[in-house]
Amino acid sequence: MVRSVLVTGGNRGIGLAIARELAAAGDAVAVTYRSGEPPEGLFGVRCDVTSSADVDAAFEKAEAEHGPVEVVVANAGITKDTLLPMMKEETFTDVIDTNLTGAYRVAKRAVRPMLRLRRGRIVLISSVVGLSGSAGQTNYAASKAGLVGFGRSLARELGSRGITVNVVAPGFVETDMTAVLDEAQQEQIRKSIPLGRQAQAEEVARVVRFLASDDASYITGAVIPVDGGLGMGH
Ligand code: NDP
Repeated sequence: MVRSVLVTGGNRGIGLAIARELAAAGDAVAVTYRSGEPPEGLFGVRCDVTSSADVDAAFEKAEAEHGPVEVVVANAGITKDTLLPMMKEETFTDVIDTNLTGAYRVAKRAVRPMLRLRRGRIVLISSVVGLSGSAGQTNYAASKAGLVGFGRSLARELGSRGITVNVVAPGFVETDMTAVLDEAQQEQIRKSIPLGRQAQAEEVARVVRFLASDDASYITGAVIPVDGGLGMGH
């Protein structure tokens, strides 16, 4: 059966790779985008995850096109890096609002129809730094660590209803987000990765596809590192 899937931030980077991977596996995929154009070949819905009204409208459009959403990937995320003494309060709260509260808005909207279906898959895209910490990223690391507690609590709430909730913690992935780092910073990170290289977004996408599949039927509340050994399983 073709499943209805929604991926937030699915117009580029890791989210786009996840959307393509799930579409190739046979799912009917809707992706959210904030600006620009939706990606070719995928059903795009405009949505800013900092707005509950936007999130609701995105689900309504995905539901109208593909039916009740069975798989949700909360992937949309931002960084606003700076050391804590220089970090304005809004620099902290903006990152939390997008990365953590955004995932809350998306998961909350997803859950009721999944409860009616008595099945569902929720995947939250966290980060290795949510567990290891990262200087200059107190806001980002807090948001990504928050997803672990959020996801595990939700996994406990929904387990008896056939809905799984899992967290994927990527390491250093080649996307626009990491392209802003200069070559010296990138080289320093690469040196600390046992596999000695950045990940391609597709390497994260394949793990999400697995967690969303029947093969992962007995996995919930897990945090799966996809980090080349950077966090050593945390
Ligand atoms: P990109 O910067 O390439 O893409 C970010 C995506 O999130 C875009 O689609 C963007 O939409 C969307 N987005 C950002 N803010 C909002 C918002 N308020 N509402 C809706 N969509 C939004 O990032 P990556 O692909 O690298 O990252 C994807 C996820 O993976 C993020 O959660 C990130 O934290 C996480 N991650 C990334 C790692 C990496 O090394 N790249 C490592 C670990 C985790 P738009 O294009 O419209 O702005």
